Amino acid sequence: MATLREQIATTTLTVTKFRELMRTLRANRPNDDLELVKKAYEYSQKNHSGQTRASGEPYLVHPLGVARVLAEMKMDPVAIAAGLLHDSVEDTSVTIVDIRKEFGEQVAHIVEGVTKISQIDFASREEQQAENLRKMMLAMVDDIRVVLIKLADRLHNMRTLEHLEPDRQQKIAKETLEIYGPIAHRLGMGKIRGELEDLGFRYLDPITYEQMHKAVEARRKKGEQFLARVGQVLRDKLKEAGITAEVESRIKRLFSIHKKLVRQKINIDQVYDLYAMRVIAKSVQDCYAVLGIVHNVWRPVPGRIKDFIAMPRPNFYQSLHTSVITEDGTPFELQIRTEEMHRMAEEGIAAHWKYKDGPVSAQDEQRLAWLRQVVEWQRDVSDPTEFLSTLKIDLYPEEVYTFTPKGKVVVLPRESTPIDFAYSIHTDVGHSCVGAKVNGRMVPLRHRLHSGDIVEILTAPGHKPSRDWLGVVKSSRARHKIKHWLNIHQRERAVEIGRKLIEKEARKYRVPLKEIRDEELQKIASDYGLGQPDDLMAGIGYGKYSARQILARLAPAAGEPAETGDGDKSSGLASVVRRVFGGDSNNNAIRVKGQGDLLVYRARCCNPIRGEDIVGYVTRGKGVAVHAQSCPNVVNLMYEPERRIDVEWAGDEAAAGSYPVKITVFCDDRFGMLKQITAVISDTKTNIRNVEARTSNGQGNIDVILDIIDLKHLENIITGVRKIPGVHDVQRLQKI
Ligand code: MN
Repeated sequence: MATLREQIATTTLTVTKFRELMRTLRANRPNDDLELVKKAYEYSQKNHSGQTRASGEPYLVHPLGVARVLAEMKMDPVAIAAGLLHDSVEDTSVTIVDIRKEFGEQVAHIVEGVTKISQIDFASREEQQAENLRKMMLAMVDDIRVVLIKLADRLHNMRTLEHLEPDRQQKIAKETLEIYGPIAHRLGMGKIRGELEDLGFRYLDPITYEQMHKAVEARRKKGEQFLARVGQVLRDKLKEAGITAEVESRIKRLFSIHKKLVRQKINIDQVYDLYAMRVIAKSVQDCYAVLGIVHNVWRPVPGRIKDFIAMPRPNFYQSLHTSVITEDGTPFELQIRTEEMHRMAEEGIAAHWKYKDGPVSAQDEQRLAWLRQVVEWQRDVSDPTEFLSTLKIDLYPEEVYTFTPKGKVVVLPRESTPIDFAYSIHTDVGHSCVGAKVNGRMVPLRHRLHSGDIVEILTAPGHKPSRDWLGVVKSSRARHKIKHWLNIHQRERAVEIGRKLIEKEARKYRVPLKEIRDEELQKIASDYGLGQPDDLMAGIGYGKYSARQILARLAPAAGEPAETGDGDKSSGLASVVRRVFGGDSNNNAIRVKGQGDLLVYRARCCNPIRGEDIVGYVTRGKGVAVHAQSCPNVVNLMYEPERRIDVEWAGDEAAAGSYPVKITVFCDDRFGMLKQITAVISDTKTNIRNVEARTSNGQGNIDVILDIIDLKHLENIITGVRKIPGVHDVQRLQKI
């Protein structure tokens, strides 16, 4: 327990900081109602009470610090309130629902966004991931205030980083340099970026930082004298020319110097812009006038004049830059800009971001689009007008940014599924993927991924891609890999079927297959315009060529069919097909989806009829067996899902033949029953092939085999028979 004295000290500290915050707010936004901010402060105080930071200070100091940074950015009360509450959901028992109830939709929405981003570990191990991480963060954001709060949060944490353990410091500093600094830069927020980078540099590489610091300090006194001298010269010249302007000076930031030394392999005394003057003029014309005056006084360094007023940088930075050399040979840089340009350079998007009362949705959207475009900028665009013209198209990122469990970023098209994710990891992972966990929870494979999702793919060795996947995947990579696999494997099936058919035909005609040499097959293949014997086998499997026709060419002297004694069963696929399709195997009653020319036959176990839901199964050597979806065998067969193939009823219904179907009628054994049943059936103009009746104990079972055209036809008959008095039930028997 804190002593009373400590409690009072604590309260005094936070109250003082809150008063400072309110003062800044009143100064920057005099017309705003600050009730929301007060309420958020009290709420935050209550919920964080008793929590302390690593520094030993009350936790509340942090949200207050964040709010203060936001207030200095001139953010609106909604953003300030959200800043005060930004850690509530993460670090206290408060929920988003509570925040929404107390502070309304806008504040809750922003706090939710900040919390979501906080839950992602952006400390990437791989350098090249940083860009993706930055894009991901921004892809997750639909209100720019979320980003600004994250930047303020990070800035305050960096300012108080000294209280953490060195390894935590390193991790946070690295993340700051990789993620937050560049984001601040993209948003044109030069001031925050500079501070974030110097703090990041200091904790990530303390030794180099210290060296750089010493080197600059050693030159500081001389530098400041130098800047004061040239500053005075410049002020005098401007006055002579009748131009009113502010002249400021600065020494380049440590991290910028460090980067320059590393990149250009030079030493600190070779840095042109170690010292810089900044002139803030009243108008654009004045800016150019100042540039002319400067070049009259000092010699410009060739190639160092840059006109970012005419050609703004992609983050909308505007200024005139030039480097000049004094009489004694000291170089320095000059930046010339208007007040408005200066504000943009320092505050960036925050300068654009002045909320009036309530949300301005159309404007919000525009700003967000602007933001996203700024962030999308990855390379130096040589022509900013080109960049500006691209602002108008592609307003939304078409990508989602997801993670592997190890933290690698996987970029996928919008609405991608775990299947897309799996294929982006590795083709084999894609082929064998059977399920996925997203953020630790099992999801269906057709689940749509969102930015920030952590995706774990579950695989089963030997599992095969499904044709259905083509309907759900979004990435062209996954689509391509699945199609490729299906093509290869369907062909393999066809080759296998072709071989079996040839063997069967050969047995039938007693042609010893061993005597068939590859050269002969190759020759026939060539005659058919095919490359190799396998193409020929695939052709047979697909039904393009008959096995008999090929065999006849292989062994022209083949004799009469051999008698095998078991009749029908061994008569080969051709006759099976003929029987099924009434002697005409070209009657394409059933079609294999996307593969019109595979041989198909109706499975005898269920004898599906037109109109029934059917499913195909690639048999070994007999083509595709077509089962009714309701057939009990289907369940067993589907243990080998890779042999499943989609089939459909095809062709002209009227021209299609009929199928024998057996029904059993359960009825009373009474006089005239059979006659009534046959009458009902005859009324439908249906051919009756066979009738068998059995009776016992006054009950009768009558089996009838009918020629049925389709499911509707059968259902009509069954309904009709059921209406006959004394008929209890009518069942279709799948086996005939
Ligand atoms: Mn925080």
